[in-house]
Order: sequence, then structure tokens, then C-alpha cells
Amino acid sequence: MLGSTGSIGTQTLDVVARHRDQYEVVALAAGRNGALLAEQATEFGVDAARVIAQANDEQLAELAGLDDVDVVVNAVVGFAGLPVTLSALRAGKRLALANKESLIAGGPVVAKARAEGGGEIVPVDSEHSALYQCLRSGRSSEVRRLIVTASGGPFRGRNRAELERVSVEDALNHPTWNMGAKITIDSSTLMNKGLEVIEAHELFGIDYDRVDVVVHPQSVIHGMVEFGDGATIAQLSMPDMRLPIGLALGAPDRLDEPFGAIDWTTLRTLEFEPPDIETFACLALAYSAGRAGGTAPAILSAANEIAVEAFLAGRIAWTSIAEVVEEVLQEGTGPADDLDDVLHADAAARRRATHLTTQIAYRRH
Ligand code: MG
Repeated sequence: MLGSTGSIGTQTLDVVARHRDQYEVVALAAGRNGALLAEQATEFGVDAARVIAQANDEQLAELAGLDDVDVVVNAVVGFAGLPVTLSALRAGKRLALANKESLIAGGPVVAKARAEGGGEIVPVDSEHSALYQCLRSGRSSEVRRLIVTASGGPFRGRNRAELERVSVEDALNHPTWNMGAKITIDSSTLMNKGLEVIEAHELFGIDYDRVDVVVHPQSVIHGMVEFGDGATIAQLSMPDMRLPIGLALGAPDRLDEPFGAIDWTTLRTLEFEPPDIETFACLALAYSAGRAGGTAPAILSAANEIAVEAFLAGRIAWTSIAEVVEEVLQEGTGPADDLDDVLHADAAARRRATHLTTQIAYRRH
């Protein structure tokens, strides 16, 4: 369990604690919260040599490749999750993937590691877990399109002018999901949905013209698959990440515990609307980066990480997040044949985005 003290990490350990007959925690790593990490190590009886606070890339990769590990849960935040993804797949493990950035930034490199090592990716992201479940209803040749649902975030229905002045607190106030800060801001800009479109393309090998986004404010339907005969299969559950986490650990087996089961006496309405891609420009930027391929998704994701940090620090406006990402993407992209290409593109995009956010912050004050 790498990234054990964050939102996904603590929920994963909650699932494991309830099913100790099936699962054992053999290694833990976390970035910041050393006190909680130590508590978790004691609670789950993890060997001290396999509990690492503020692990570096090498240590993370080593834990992900340990011989006695069956499932690696990658819940590291951001691009820092890439060594875990690569190491787990090369070692032939099941990778329960909550770190979408590693798959997005390193798409072709991750695909190579998966092919070479024989590892398997099972998505933890609720939308992709839903798609994974719906895809079982037909043959892959029968799939017409994937539909990823989006809650729309806290700013659904607002226009650009209104969004110039929103605060960090406003953006962190997600209507349906309780998540970490980075992904919550990404949800408010719809960048999270854009990254999920790229993630769906990488996971399921469906081209971008056949991955659609539908805004669904209740977050009860998490994903849908439309088949050639017109049938749409949807996966429904109340927003509770323990369901996709439990499935990622044991798939295709399901846990015998109904996380997120629906109470049909109280659920009344399921609404849908198309996304407003003019106001939420990040979604369109992600589609075009995904279509461009190569290093474009890595650049998109890196520039976004820097812009989100700057917004969270109060240095740039919410509307500047998309502007920074767009400008960095315009600097050009290239092929992503090996890890070095990805690392270089990531580093260059971060430098450029840092420069831009500093300029914007200077102009604002
Ligand atoms: Mg998601």
C-alpha cells in the first residue's frame, strides 16, 4: 500500500481491516504523515523494514516489486507514482491503480512494462472500475463507446466571469466526493475528467472519438458502456471508494460487503447534461493532448500539477489553471518512446509552468 495516509490509502486499509481473513498488508509507504504511517504499521503488523516515510523513487520501486507481494495499491499523488506503476508491472504484479497520472504521463512506457512483465492493471478510479464492470457484458468487438460520468464539481452551471474570483475554499468544496486537495481542484476544473478520458483510452484501448463525458451531478452512475446493438450497461452505487478498492484487490471476485449499496426508497433523481467545455477548458485540452499522444499527456499533467499547486497557494486565479496548461502545451510535444522522454518532458513542462505561474502571480500583486 503505497500512499497509505491519503484518502485512498486510509480507505484501502479500512477495507483490509474488515477482511483480514483475505488480505495482509506487507509494505507501507507515505509521503507526509509519519505519525499516521507509524500507527498503520503497528495496526497491521508490518515489518519495520518495509515501512518507509518520504520514500524516494528507488525505495518506492523496490517495495512495489517485493517477491511476497500479490497486489500493489498505487495511491501516490501525481507524477511521483510512475516508479511504482512501472516496477509493479515489470514484476508481474496486479496493480490496483489509483494514481492516474503515472498511466497518463507514461502511457507508451507503461504499456511496454505491462507487456514485458505480464503485470495487470485493475483501476481503482471509480469511473474506470465502473467501465471495467460494464465491459464484462459484451465482447470488446461489440463496444460502441465508453461514457465516463462527471459530477460537474462545485462550479457546475457557472460562467467564466463568475469563475474569475472563486476562492480555494470554494474549489475544495466538492458536492459529492470527499477526496484529496489535488484531485478536488482537478474536479472543479474538469481536468480530472480529462485525465480520466486519457486513462480510459490507455486502460481499455478505445480511441478518443469513442470516449464521451456526461455530467451527472448525483454521482450514482459512475460509468457506462454502449454496445453495438444500442444497449447501454451502467454501474450504479452511492459514492463510496471502498467498492472500487475492494474490487481492484480481488477482481473478478467481489467482496461480500455492500459498500455504497443504493437505498431505492430515498434515491429519486438521476440527472444528465453535456459538459460546458468552453468554461471548463481543461477538458478540451485533455482531449487534444490525448489525441496528440507522445509526450503531450505528460506535459498536460505536469503543467496542471504546477498550476494547481499555485492556485492552492493562492498565487494564481482558478481560471489561470487552464491558461497555464494551454500555454505550456503550445511549446510543443514529441515522441514518448522511453522513460527518459517522459522524464524530460515532465521536467521541462514543470519549469515552464513554474515560470508562467510566477509571472501571473507577479502581475496580480
Ligand atoms: Mg474518478
